[in-house]
Amino acid sequence: MALKVSEKLISEVTANVEDIQLYINGEFFPAESGAAFDNINPYTNEKINRTAEGRAEDIKKAVAAAKAAFENGPWGSMKISERMKYINRIADVIDEEIEKIAILEAYDTGLPVSQTRNMTARSAENFRFYARMVEARLHGDAYQSDSEFLNYTIHKPLGPVGLITPWNAPFMLETWKVAPALATGNTVVLKPAELSPVSANILAQVIDKAGLPDGVFNVVHGYGETAGAALVAHPDVKAISFTGETSTGSLIIKNAADSLKKTSMELGGKSPLIIFDDADFERALDAAVWGIFSFNGERCTANSRVLVHKSIKDAFTKALKKRIDHIKIGDPMDPSTELGPLIEKEHCNKVNSYIELAGEEGCEVYQGKVPEDIKAGNFVPPTVFLNADNSMRVCQEEIFGPVLSIIEFEKEEEAIQAANDVKYGLAGYVWTNDLKRGHRVAQAVEAGMIWINSQNVRDLKIPFGGMKASGIGREGGHYAFDFYTEPKVIHVALGNHHIPQFGKGE
Ligand code: NAD
Repeated sequence: MALKVSEKLISEVTANVEDIQLYINGEFFPAESGAAFDNINPYTNEKINRTAEGRAEDIKKAVAAAKAAFENGPWGSMKISERMKYINRIADVIDEEIEKIAILEAYDTGLPVSQTRNMTARSAENFRFYARMVEARLHGDAYQSDSEFLNYTIHKPLGPVGLITPWNAPFMLETWKVAPALATGNTVVLKPAELSPVSANILAQVIDKAGLPDGVFNVVHGYGETAGAALVAHPDVKAISFTGETSTGSLIIKNAADSLKKTSMELGGKSPLIIFDDADFERALDAAVWGIFSFNGERCTANSRVLVHKSIKDAFTKALKKRIDHIKIGDPMDPSTELGPLIEKEHCNKVNSYIELAGEEGCEVYQGKVPEDIKAGNFVPPTVFLNADNSMRVCQEEIFGPVLSIIEFEKEEEAIQAANDVKYGLAGYVWTNDLKRGHRVAQAVEAGMIWINSQNVRDLKIPFGGMKASGIGREGGHYAFDFYTEPKVIHVALGNHHIPQFGKGE
């Protein structure tokens, strides 16, 4: 869906983006130390604004506010219908500001504005969805034990929870965690990614406008090693939900062990898209191109490995090259742009180093062209590694850019073997018109989520998450309740059941 926004609105919204402060206990503050860092525009590499650099002392304040709001405030004990009014109000405020949020997200991240628009709409839906889910599905079970007991479960919120998010689709990923955490009655300290702080600041403004009680939602901007680590270590934080790189996730699990915190891990991926010779060729091509080049290739579920049947490989490669030649690369603020600049110079250099490596490993590298009039910006053109072998580093490691490997296979078992011969297991895509084969391959591929004859369409009801190095646990749908609530069982004796007699001997 193309975004119809006027150039006037874009220039108004981006003219003077305010400096970003922390949001603690219902108020916006600078960091206690006074420290701040520059936030850079990926298209121009110029400064957008300054962002307050929260550290351990700010995390301490935010957690204290979240704890007080949980223990003394009305949030945890509020009537569900009342709490859901707030959750729905957050969605309404997002909708009121949708164009502005989409524009600022594109400005801050380099994601094309036509794509941030859809993600912003999804963000509002994350809140509405969890308001409905909590009303309908957050219930316990009753267990009858003969006629002696009735046991039943209830689900209690955990208390203050820490949410740590990445830069690649910040607003959507933040709301994806904040919505179930708040809807189930927890209070929140969010530590957003330092490379994309603008939309987390907007979320704080949205929640402030929605009128949530002070301390229920707090945001501490800052670096992972300081603010993030302090949140993980804080003894009053009951759980950490993390989305980011696999290596960061593993460090967070180690650090959370000291205070025995519950953690949820949504990590990296190297997802295969398998195209059999009987597949609907054009649709598979559409899905493969969109799945790796949308969101600038900075997408955890991107199909960065395409396994294509030998008999159609040449036709597929030819058609893919043609698509690559026509992908519109440019200013993320231009609604017709399909591929924008990557988040930062350093990440751009990392992606380029893999492109160099692909040549060294023996791939033919085919790329689109960045228009010559683009002078600054962290651009990597759409790139494909032809004649790749699954054992190459470029097929094993997450590159997280608009870069795709093409791997040929002949037999179904070969495709499954290659799909699974990687440390990750987040998503997978299977294209075939053979119903039995579709199910068979989908069941054999090691991934948390598989789509047959489809691109990455998200149904908010399904469990979201990965296996192997792609994550631990599932969020989404009612699965989020397992993480954000504590089930408690209450045993009720219905009669005088037998109690062993101790200490009654002569
Ligand atoms: P990252 O791991 O570098 O950072 C993520 C967040 O963790 C940031 O807020 C960062 O400040 C914080 N952090 C860093 N070190 C920390 C520490 N020691 N303690 C606490 N917090 C710390 O990831 P990124 O580069 O921002 O994001 C890209 C990665 O995210 C990719 O690997 C991508 O696949 C993954 N991702 C996964 C999913 C999913 O759902 N599985 C979704 C989106 C992105």
